[in-house]
Amino acid sequence: MTKYLKSVPNREGFFGDYGGAMLPPPLIPHFKEISDAYDRLSKSSEFLNDLKYIRKHFQGRPTPISYLKNLSKISGGAQIYAKREDLNHTGAHKLNHCMAEALLAKHMGKTKLIAETGAGQHGVALATAAAYFGMECEIHMGAVDIKKEYPNVVRMKLLGATVVEVNEGAQTLKEAVDSAFGSYMGQADKALFGIGSVVGPHPFPMMVRDFQKIVGMEAREQFLDMNGELPDLVAACVGGGSNAMGLFAGFIDDEDVELHGVEPLGTSTKMGDHAATITYGVDSAIHAFKTLVLVDENGEPAPVNTIASGLDYPGVGPEHAYLHKTGRVNYTTASDKEALDAFYKISSKEGIIPALESAHVVAFAMREAKNHPGKTILINLSGRGDKDIDFVTETYGFGE
Ligand SMILES: *Cc1c(COP(=O)(O)O)cnc(C)c1O
Repeated sequence: MTKYLKSVPNREGFFGDYGGAMLPPPLIPHFKEISDAYDRLSKSSEFLNDLKYIRKHFQGRPTPISYLKNLSKISGGAQIYAKREDLNHTGAHKLNHCMAEALLAKHMGKTKLIAETGAGQHGVALATAAAYFGMECEIHMGAVDIKKEYPNVVRMKLLGATVVEVNEGAQTLKEAVDSAFGSYMGQADKALFGIGSVVGPHPFPMMVRDFQKIVGMEAREQFLDMNGELPDLVAACVGGGSNAMGLFAGFIDDEDVELHGVEPLGTSTKMGDHAATITYGVDSAIHAFKTLVLVDENGEPAPVNTIASGLDYPGVGPEHAYLHKTGRVNYTTASDKEALDAFYKISSKEGIIPALESAHVVAFAMREAKNHPGKTILINLSGRGDKDIDFVTETYGFGE
């Protein structure tokens, strides 16, 4: 099942035309160091055994697959199943790559983790990993996001991280990335930059995919155990694309399994109203790699909008741009409204409150079930919705 995974990226980190590493010269040796260390460690049984131990005894893996009986019934048509990353420690898939990045840092002799965070989910996962390994952790976050996502700021501080407030520009994710990168450049000898998805310069898109593929490997085996055959459709929401690559990795060599990525359509198809990068983006570059990007009339990354802050990115992982081009994965969208409807339905009918990000793929499954009678759909429930309940109920109430 690793035929595809071995085929990309190439040595320079390209998935076809996408990816690479367009770094400022001072960072080139540091990324080479990361690349070399990962090449070595990804083949080391000590590293892989450490990771296996952490997955089982700290994260609580394997996470189960649940058959969503009631949701399947009201949707009509296909049977819907969910891989439960909401049951992974800290409540989302992000810890899968954060623990591995921290383990990599430890093996490289680093003592500190640095990253940016938007809504704070990546910051919390990385701060958790830093605490586990007894490392320092520095998280950069825009002042606007700090106000909006205060509970995650509290969590990061409890976990022992330093939260650096960024007051430049729009004071959100993009400025936080610039600030974190600047700080990292000054201390790259002792720190590792912990990227939060399958994005950024090589080797991160490949490495984060490898760290997330545990989701797809578990899911393939579990689904076969439950049903004696593979699912017909496999689907995940796509922000940067890490939870999707993780699940897809388990099925990508199974040509009869359809793969679907679901992007956030926000409030409309107008530029600025959504964050559907693959659907509406153009070939460009962002944060030191080539990919599809949503751009404004000046060719700059466009403002993006979605109810799910974890999907709020004008770029996308280079491997998704590649899989879109090859046609192996079909990319589609779900709107804020569809995601909200799905959020209420899966909560009240299944007893699972999903993250708003994950609600996008739930919406896809409910929609596609009708078009696929007798088939099975496996979705990645990437995270739990505790972080979203105040916002949802204060803004939209309790649903029908
Ligand atoms: C961050 C996040 C996402 C989006 O990130 P990907 O890299 O696209 O997976 C999706 N779901 C949850 C719960 C998240 O926290």
